[in-house]
Amino acid sequence: MIRIAIQSKGRLNEESTALLGEIGINVDDSKRKFLSRSDNFPLEVLYLRDDDIPQVVANGTAALGIVGLNEVEEKGFKVDIVKKLGFGGCRISLAIPKSEEYDGPAYFNGKRIATSYPAILRRYLDKEGIKAEIEVITGSVEIAPSAGIADAIFDIVSSGGTLVSNGLKEVEKVFFSEAVLISSGKLSAGEQAILDEMLFRIESALGSRKKKYLLMNLPQASVEQAVKILPAMRSPTIMPLAAEGWCSMHSVVDEKDLWEKIRQLKEIGAEGILVLNLDKIIP
Ligand code: ATP
Ligand code: MG
Repeated sequence: MIRIAIQSKGRLNEESTALLGEIGINVDDSKRKFLSRSDNFPLEVLYLRDDDIPQVVANGTAALGIVGLNEVEEKGFKVDIVKKLGFGGCRISLAIPKSEEYDGPAYFNGKRIATSYPAILRRYLDKEGIKAEIEVITGSVEIAPSAGIADAIFDIVSSGGTLVSNGLKEVEKVFFSEAVLISSGKLSAGEQAILDEMLFRIESALGSRKKKYLLMNLPQASVEQAVKILPAMRSPTIMPLAAEGWCSMHSVVDEKDLWEKIRQLKEIGAEGILVLNLDKIIP
C-alpha cells in the first residue's frame, strides 16, 4: 500500500484524479472524503490543500504527492521530484501598473512587492541584487497595486488575462511551474515497487498524449517513400487492400509533425487518411 496526497479542490484536483483514472486506478472521488482507498490498486489518496502537500510528503505522512512545482519551491521541504506531469502549467512573474515605464529589474529597488510566494521572490531579488520590500498576501494579490498596498506584484500567471483586467503588465517571468509527482525519498521496497508500476503506467499515458495514430490507403508504388515519411516504433504496418495496387498503412506520429506528414503523404497519393487518438503506448 502507498499513500498519495493530491489537492482536494482547485486547479490541480481534476487533472490529478483524471491521471489516476487514466492509469487504471479507481478512486472514490466523492470530495467529502479526506482519505479514500482504491478498490483495484494498492493506493490510498489523501485530499489536502495544495499548500500542505510538500510538508506531508517530506515528513512521510504520504509517500507521494501531486502538487505544483511552485509550492515545492516555495515551501522548501526536502522531497524528490519524481516526474513532471505536463499539466497545471503556469509561471510566477513580476508585474507593474501598465502606465509605468520599465527598464529592467533595477526598477524594483525601493519598491513594495505583494506576493504569496515570498521565498521564491526573495531568492530572485537577492540574485539580482535588488533591495525591495515584500508584502505577503495570500489572496487577490493582483488588486494590491490599485488598493495602494504595494507598487508591484509577484504572482502566478497563465494567460495574463487577470493582469490586464487589473491594469497591470508582466515585466519579468521568474519561475516556471507545472504539476509534479513528488516522493518522500524514503520508500520501503514494497512502496517503491508500487511507485515503479505507477510510473510505468504514467509514462505510457503521457507518452501517448502527444501522439496520433494515422491510417490511410496508399498506392503500392508509394510504400517505399511512405516508410521514409513515417518511421514508426519499429516500422509502419502495411496491409493489402482488396483493390489491386493499393495497401493500407498504419503508423504513429508526433502530433507536432502531423500536418506536415499528412501533406507529404498526400503528395505521394495517400487517400482516406484517418487520424485517431491513442490511449496508451507500451513500448
Ligand atoms: P488550495 O485551496 O488547495 O490551497 P489554491 O487556491 O492555493 O488551492 P489553486 O488556485 O487551485 O490553488 O492552484 C493550484 C496550483 O495550480 C497552483 O499552485 C499552480 O501550481 C497551478 N496553476 C496553474 N495555473 C494557474 C493559474 N492561472 N493560477 C493559479 N494557479 C495555477
Ligand atoms: Mg493553496
